[in-house]
Amino acid sequence: MKDVSAQDLAGNLRRVARTSDDQRTVVRIGPATFGDDRTFTVIAGPCTVESRDQVIDIARAVKSRGATMLRGGAFKPLTFPYRSEKMFELGMEGLRYLHEAGRVAGLPIVTEVTDLRRVGEMSELADMLQIGARNMQNFPLLEEVGRVGKPVLLKRHFGASVRDWLGAAEYLVHNGTSDVVLCERGIVAPHTHVPTSRFIVDLQAVLAAKELSHLPVIVDPSHSTFKRTFVAPIARAALAAGADGIILDVHPVPEQAAVDPLQALSYDAFGTLMTELRGIAGVLGRQVA
Ligand code: PEP
Ligand code: MN
Repeated sequence: MKDVSAQDLAGNLRRVARTSDDQRTVVRIGPATFGDDRTFTVIAGPCTVESRDQVIDIARAVKSRGATMLRGGAFKPLTFPYRSEKMFELGMEGLRYLHEAGRVAGLPIVTEVTDLRRVGEMSELADMLQIGARNMQNFPLLEEVGRVGKPVLLKRHFGASVRDWLGAAEYLVHNGTSDVVLCERGIVAPHTHVPTSRFIVDLQAVLAAKELSHLPVIVDPSHSTFKRTFVAPIARAALAAGADGIILDVHPVPEQAAVDPLQALSYDAFGTLMTELRGIAGVLGRQVA
């Protein structure tokens, strides 16, 4: 990993670098707050939107258990080109369902934009646009999303240094958005692609990004572990380490999720985790909201 130099902070990263200890960007999207140092914000929802009724059900379920933002993929950057009845994405139709579900439950929504030609129409429906790990250095996409000015969730690529990650954030801020939330989602090392650990959650990068920049940083325990039984422990660790929040896959029948069925949490498991997070937050003088 290349170090971030003092010259980077003063020049290349002039917009995202912290210039004083108390400089913080707080991103507020309806009831969701990122970066005020006290609040631990939970975004939850399906990996991919599967149907109107299902995403409305999920939205109500996660809201009633304490999530303040709804996630859901409409366009999925899948590893292989094949879609099937079991593995699919609904495109703009899915985004409309996500939008409706957010309205019904009273939750703002975040969804991934994979194609710069879709930025305009997607930003009309989404409260926050997600740049996926695989597109972290898709510079034309970053420029277009930055120009829209909406809040952005910027995933870290699984091979990116903190310097590269902050550089991508700099593109967004340089082009016009001030509300960027960084998301650590696991990195690859030669031995990580085995069923027990597809990626390694890099909690040190959360600390480094928060130390070097004024932007909020959250963790994705679902896409980083790729393994259901690891999700809650990593979520608890993210809170303990000082992250500003998490983003989680939640599904009514996790084993049957259309995308990423190995990592989604059931409603019950999500509820249990939220109770645990509230307890940990209390000990740390923070709150889950
Ligand atoms: C996702 O959040 O749906 C996703 C595809 O994540 P990542 O880009 O981190 O793999
Ligand atoms: Mn997924």
